[in-house]
Amino acid sequence: MDAADRRQRRWRGSKRQLRERMTVEMELQWNWEYLTEVMKTLIETPSPVSYYEEINPLMEKLAAELGYEVTYDRKHTVYIKVPGKNREKTVCVGAHLDTLGLMVKRIDEDGMIRVRNLGGINFNNIEGETVTVHTRSGKTYTGLVACQSHSVHVYDDARTLERNENTMMVILAEDVHSKEEVKALGIENGDILSLEPHFTVTPNGFIKSRFIDNKACAACSLALLKVMKEQNLTPACDTWFVFPHYEEIGHGGAYVPDEVSEYLALDIAVIGPDHNGREDRVSICVKDNFSPYDRELTDRLVRKADALQLNILPLWNRRKRGSPCRTQSEGRSLWNGNLFFPRCGAHPYGRCEEHSKASGCLCAGGLIKQNRTRHLLE
Ligand SMILES: [Zn+2]
Repeated sequence: MDAADRRQRRWRGSKRQLRERMTVEMELQWNWEYLTEVMKTLIETPSPVSYYEEINPLMEKLAAELGYEVTYDRKHTVYIKVPGKNREKTVCVGAHLDTLGLMVKRIDEDGMIRVRNLGGINFNNIEGETVTVHTRSGKTYTGLVACQSHSVHVYDDARTLERNENTMMVILAEDVHSKEEVKALGIENGDILSLEPHFTVTPNGFIKSRFIDNKACAACSLALLKVMKEQNLTPACDTWFVFPHYEEIGHGGAYVPDEVSEYLALDIAVIGPDHNGREDRVSICVKDNFSPYDRELTDRLVRKADALQLNILPLWNRRKRGSPCRTQSEGRSLWNGNLFFPRCGAHPYGRCEEHSKASGCLCAGGLIKQNRTRHLLE
């Protein structure tokens, strides 16, 4: 059963809606294999908060393969700028590249590495995980995340000790037994640690991985850029695809160049009580923990997604602040909106569903080509 068959089998709308939706898919000739492949490549390239050295060159390479050029701002945000028919207006589609990670806090006398979280790490979710230490000189070493009470055979509190940055440590997979030996490897306080992502696609179409937030959306942006280039589509106005860092610690996307009048963020949606996201649908976020999103732009998103027969759900997000709201809180006047990609489990090893990946891509695709000629944000 191929991807289209699976989507058809899971479709819960009318046959007419499915027919129209499949038509849109075929007209845009999405390359689903590319989407999954590029998502895997992005996820398997480490980019914990502030560590852009590997992912930015990868973005340059992926953009060049599609026939685009990359530019940067001083925060190392990646920009792929696509000229539109109207050069007077600029809109922005953002998908952050940074992920949760860790930083070396100190090295104990016995050679254990103590760490600090980069972003909202839940230490319960990373116990036993393999990590890679990235030193400033470019060396890498692997290690294992463990609790200091790491064995029920030895410690009475092995099951009950709270897992936090004071009780967790990294055991290097190196023959080291002292602080001096660890430092001799070139490891220092402040070095970055990335977590093993374990990207997996199940035969029935689920993607299980860390860092679906937000590499899935970055992959959707690249898949859309591929469609635009291959089909020679020109957006109605200048459209900048932006890929910020530092989102996981609160200031990614806070800077947006003056030219940009509308900002649409692609990110993950949560699922749970008070959050009506579903794995097989894409969500339009109406409010986050800081502010409601612009009603007019949100209305346009809902109307156009509806016209495309997309499987969408309005959603609010209790704990998260989206990139556009950060920009507004910095005092910028711009229209903001959020398309969210629902997944089960926000930050731990989680999963998303092929159908929502398809919906996310099509929804973003509506930006460029809706009813063949119209622009979602025009
Ligand atoms: Zn995110």
